[in-house]
Amino acid sequence: MSGKRRAWLVMILAVSLALGPARLAFAWGRMAHRASAKLAESRLTPRTLERVRLLLEPGESLADASTWADENSREIPGSASWHYVNVPITHERYSARDCRKSGCVVSKLEEFRAILADPRSSRGDQRAALRFVIHFVQDLHQPMHVADHDDRGGNALQLRLGRNDATNLHQVWDSGLLRTQFRHEDDLVRALRELAAQPEARRWHGQNVEDWANESFTLGRTAYRDPETGALLRNGSAISRAYERVNTPRAALRLAQAGVRLADVLNEALGDRPGQQSPTRGSR
Ligand SMILES: [Zn+2]
Repeated sequence: MSGKRRAWLVMILAVSLALGPARLAFAWGRMAHRASAKLAESRLTPRTLERVRLLLEPGESLADASTWADENSREIPGSASWHYVNVPITHERYSARDCRKSGCVVSKLEEFRAILADPRSSRGDQRAALRFVIHFVQDLHQPMHVADHDDRGGNALQLRLGRNDATNLHQVWDSGLLRTQFRHEDDLVRALRELAAQPEARRWHGQNVEDWANESFTLGRTAYRDPETGALLRNGSAISRAYERVNTPRAALRLAQAGVRLADVLNEALGDRPGQQSPTRGSR
């Protein structure tokens, strides 16, 4: 190997070590975030949509804003740990004790939701809060952002998916499973809209942030196991067809739930509230 070629390889390795694992630890893949945000956007009231447009940059859609927190995580010191909460799979459920003092996805979602809804917040603070709320509602619905087996939410559990592609459990849930079924963002958006239109989806409303964390935790505990044998996945295991068959629909369902609930959160924080209706509304 020539010295130049070796230097090039060393540089690529250094860059992927610096960027790779950190990025993987963050979130649903880009397609997942964007598709779920598109579902949410289609469910905003005209009033909420108008306020969202005024807060974001000109031309910035909810889908564009949905990946901002990952893209800017390095510029916002300490924010990387806001994207998840590690609840040991030996526990029964999420507890506030699982949330670090510096913040976790549960506490930060509540914090930014309050900033977004507060009319005294500055426009800049509201804009950042909006981008974080979009992203954190979605991250909280990713089971591996809540369940943990002392492996950084599955990031340290090495697996193989498809044609022996090396991956890890966290990444399988971020994007691996979804990619086995959806090639394009629009295919996923269509599937999410169908899920959100089922009668069952009416039951997704009215829950709180801790309920969402517990749903993710329950799914995450199952995600650590082979669906046929019930055995814990081990380092080097291959993701089976049965695992894909059982869990890919669950990953899509979580994104649909995130989209529906994100719309609820934004409509509540930014839309018309009782007592704030315009005079033409409700009068005869
Ligand atoms: Zn994230």
